[in-house]
Amino acid sequence: MSERMLKFVDVSQEMPEKRHADERVNDFDEIYRDYAREKAEIQSARCSQCGIPFCQIHCPLHNNIPDWLKLTAEGRIEEAYAVSSATNTFPEICGRICPQDRLCEGNCVIEKGFESVTIGSVEKYITDTAFDMGLVKPPAPAVERDQSVGIIGAGPGGLAAADMLRRRGYQTHVYDRYDRVGGLMLYGIPNFKLEKDIVQRRQKLLEDAGITFHLDFEVGRDASLDELRARHDSILIATGVYRARDVAVPGVGLRNIVMAMDFLTASNRKGLGDAVPAFDDGRLNAAGKNVVVIGGGDTAMDCVRTAVRQGATSVKCLYRRDRANMPGSMREVNHAEEEGVEFIWLSGPQAFLGDGAVSGVRAQRMRLGAPDASGRRSPEPVEDSNFTLDCDLAIKALGFDPEDLPTLFGAPELGVSRWGTVKADLRTLMTNLDGVFAAGDIVRGASLVVWAIRDGRDAADAMHAYMQAKAEGVAAPLAVAS
Ligand code: FAD
Ligand code: SF4
Ligand code: SF4
Repeated sequence: MSERMLKFVDVSQEMPEKRHADERVNDFDEIYRDYAREKAEIQSARCSQCGIPFCQIHCPLHNNIPDWLKLTAEGRIEEAYAVSSATNTFPEICGRICPQDRLCEGNCVIEKGFESVTIGSVEKYITDTAFDMGLVKPPAPAVERDQSVGIIGAGPGGLAAADMLRRRGYQTHVYDRYDRVGGLMLYGIPNFKLEKDIVQRRQKLLEDAGITFHLDFEVGRDASLDELRARHDSILIATGVYRARDVAVPGVGLRNIVMAMDFLTASNRKGLGDAVPAFDDGRLNAAGKNVVVIGGGDTAMDCVRTAVRQGATSVKCLYRRDRANMPGSMREVNHAEEEGVEFIWLSGPQAFLGDGAVSGVRAQRMRLGAPDASGRRSPEPVEDSNFTLDCDLAIKALGFDPEDLPTLFGAPELGVSRWGTVKADLRTLMTNLDGVFAAGDIVRGASLVVWAIRDGRDAADAMHAYMQAKAEGVAAPLAVAS
């Protein structure tokens, strides 16, 4: 093994410098600065080059982490980038926003007592440096093919598939109802986690590769699924999940009780320079308000931290389980606490109070009872434990379900699960409709960018196999949607 490695015994874990909370709450810029070259190299050298790398096993893309850490430690960025980009379509994005504490870094074997290798930050460093060095090029097809694909959804799942299919030479068309490319990476995830020019830099490369984007194009409104099937040799559904879950408590119809995605989209659009009347007139703007966010996932964390940056008077997060049982990343909770967010654990909303507009939230304390079917302990209300929070903006961040795609797409025959997710065969990744594949959140339910990338890449392989078989007149594998 190279003498450079195995430095974890002598060298402590050091993340890139995190801007102080007092500074970062004044803007929407990313909170970590970049690694300087020497820091990236020495942090990479902490890796012990495991024979069975658990980091890699627990990365959804099975990135070859030990190899790119070693190459980075040796200053061989071009090769590190080649290895890193071989398995990941957007390494610089995953490096920024994967919940590494639950994936690669959380499974690094040197974690106990020594703190894990800073895998995500090095991944970001490699690709950002490769961009600076002009090493990142548009995907170039080796051959041009006549066959075309239609991809519905320009989120990470759709874009990862588009990239892989274009590399194989297919005429690639991506349809999205938004006016910009990126899906939740652009309009959901705030700038302080993922600056928008990072996403738009990728869009430019995909356009340069010859991928055609049809924006402001809603399948169901501007074309039915059948019309797209007639246009293309195969279709990918990668539409994500957008139907926000609600709370059924008295007062929920009062003014200034809003959905998380409306709030976050308004903020992201404002940052992109769009006119956003509902932001300017205060409906979707936390400035000067007592804000209560309901929920404990990543979306709730993004809402509380956005509200802080907009100049809220106070920001509280109400969550019915405790810190240990929340779905959001612990790193995000720590960032939020540093930025002045108050977490009210083991508490759920009972009613919204107010006359016309919300002025308070009546909440009730919870305790954790027996585990439910999923193994998580269910919250149970504690009697006579009500309390009231001042609130002039309540944000509901309770998760998302799929829209009714068969109805929306004018395709009642499209097979969906009882939760509304699109059913895809585990082996062929095809839905029950010939030549129609599916990937990302619309198959898994609300998940992660890295899983959408993985699904998009896998779907591209499956679509390629299907179209090759079609071109050669071989019967395509039978789809049996599970
Ligand atoms: P999406 O990103 O949702 O993209 C779907 C695209 O399909 C959208 O552009 C949409 O406009 C388009 N579309 C939908 N219907 C139609 C139609 N009928 N016609 C045409 N186009 C259509 N994940 C992480 O890994 N890290 C994070 O930090 C993180 N933070 C998050 C924060 C928030 C607020 C949210 C909501 C999610 C977050 N996620 C995070 C989850 C992550 O963003 C998603 O798992 C991921 O974007 C799913 O990718 P996708 O391609 O399946 O769908
Ligand atoms: Fe870790 Fe995500 Fe990168 Fe995989 S893609 S190595 S999980 S940061
Ligand atoms: Fe290196 Fe940790 Fe992965 Fe082992 S688990 S190869 S030490 S990053």
